[in-house]
Amino acid sequence: MENAGNAVRVLLIEDNPLHSKLVEKLLEESKAPDFQVTTVTTLAEGLARIRTREHDIALLDLTLPDSQDFATFLRVRAENPDLPVVIITGTDDLKLAARAVESGAQDFLVKTNLQSGPLIRALRYSIERTRVRDAEWNSPMFRLAQRQFLKAAQLMSLDDNIRQRLLFPQRTLVVSFPFRRDKYTEVETVFGYRVQHVLTMGPTKGGIRYHQDVGLGETSALAMWMTWKCALMHLPFGGAKGGVRIDPTVLTSHELQRLTRRYASEIMTMIGPDKDIPAPDLGTNERVMAWIMDTYSQQMGYAVPEVVTGKPVVLGGSPGRSEATARGLTYVVQRAAANLKIDLTKSTAIVQGFGNVGGNAVKFLAEAGLKIIGASDVSTGIYNPKGLDVNALFAYAKQHKVLKGFAGGEAMSNAELLEQKCDILVPAALQNQITAENADRINCRLLAEGANGPTTLEADEVLNKKGIASLPDILANAGGVTVSYFEWVQDTQNYMWTLDEVNSRLHKQMVDAYERTRTRSERQGVDMRTAAMIEGIERVAAAKLARGLFP
Ligand code: GLU
Repeated sequence: MENAGNAVRVLLIEDNPLHSKLVEKLLEESKAPDFQVTTVTTLAEGLARIRTREHDIALLDLTLPDSQDFATFLRVRAENPDLPVVIITGTDDLKLAARAVESGAQDFLVKTNLQSGPLIRALRYSIERTRVRDAEWNSPMFRLAQRQFLKAAQLMSLDDNIRQRLLFPQRTLVVSFPFRRDKYTEVETVFGYRVQHVLTMGPTKGGIRYHQDVGLGETSALAMWMTWKCALMHLPFGGAKGGVRIDPTVLTSHELQRLTRRYASEIMTMIGPDKDIPAPDLGTNERVMAWIMDTYSQQMGYAVPEVVTGKPVVLGGSPGRSEATARGLTYVVQRAAANLKIDLTKSTAIVQGFGNVGGNAVKFLAEAGLKIIGASDVSTGIYNPKGLDVNALFAYAKQHKVLKGFAGGEAMSNAELLEQKCDILVPAALQNQITAENADRINCRLLAEGANGPTTLEADEVLNKKGIASLPDILANAGGVTVSYFEWVQDTQNYMWTLDEVNSRLHKQMVDAYERTRTRSERQGVDMRTAAMIEGIERVAAAKLARGLFP
């Protein structure tokens, strides 16, 4: 087929001639871009056309003479996963259309209500989104964050304009920059990112991650989750995240410092106490925050402790910040257990990950009376159904830097450890740990997500069916950013709170967010993740509507 100039080539797969005529007519009204529509009436013809790779987008009716329902979408997807698909649906099939959107369709339109403006915009946005996502944004994590958002947006009937606005971050910065190795002549060039998802609520807030998998897609997903997390916790921040694509464990301390200072100066224009306030995340810690604070302060000419949180206490860090994520997680586990009638003193826990979140979670859960039967780090998992000697475990980790070789339990892989029977399971390492592949074998009563994005949407469904209660990441790990907020407040007011004050405020805020989420989940009949997301999205949407649109 010949492409007339820059026309958008639309493949319309629709068996009802009235509807296809209407779509063709509405698209003719477009001044720019021009649409060139090819209409077919069966799935078989549609698939044959898709095979030619001559179309920019497919408009798909799910009920066709030779294929019905969700299968229609799956077959189109399988034929060409890169082709953007917009579903056209009747009002009776809305649920199905929403499911297709959660599974990768770009959008859906209701047939009875078709108008030229929204139709043209839906096609244009869908093509743009697919192009953008296929570049730097292409990451499973970003797709997960978008799909979780679309699921919640659909259930809460979110205003379509706001849905479009929230699907991508408002500001992103990609930098490539050099740093010197200890051997003076060796210079490495690395990529760094800072993403601000929502600038509506106040300054943006979120950690900085050093990891070999960091990219724009991953950083954007994490920034999006920060938006919902801050809104759910009622903190006056929008979401942000940053990172550098590097494995920090292979760097010396001097190299890490030079890398950090150069990265800080590259993102200098983005950050600031009233603009965007970084904090630690995977691969960074309070020492890294101190270097960022120092680099920023050198530029300003005076000390600006409030530009980062998670700093050493001596520089204006808050007591309790470094353990806050695990402490907050323990508070909501205790509250959820009380609701679920789980007696924690007779319960077992498995914690995946032994960093700041996982390590402290082992400590606090043990203090709360749980028997820790599994722990892990990158080197190994350790399992002992009779209970691990937690003090011995920490002593071993301190001495050997890794858990591998610890004799107090059976060694097994991280994946195997997740599948052992326990009451409370805490994934506190990386994303994408509980998936469609292993969800069926997860054997716990309560899942508390210490990591960001450890569970996929497909796995959510399986866990819900199995009756496993869950505390989703944006709730369970929100203690970190909540005490970050306390730190920022103390810094901007030049005031220091005691550890008791910090912990009791944290407790109050965590329990309040948990109760709001639980109530919504029960009232609306949705799972806890969706309930927590809706809590957050509703607040952001209300703020956006209240501020209005400039100009
Ligand atoms: N990186 C942490 C998170 O994912 C904390 C962010 C912060 O304290 O700003 O929630």
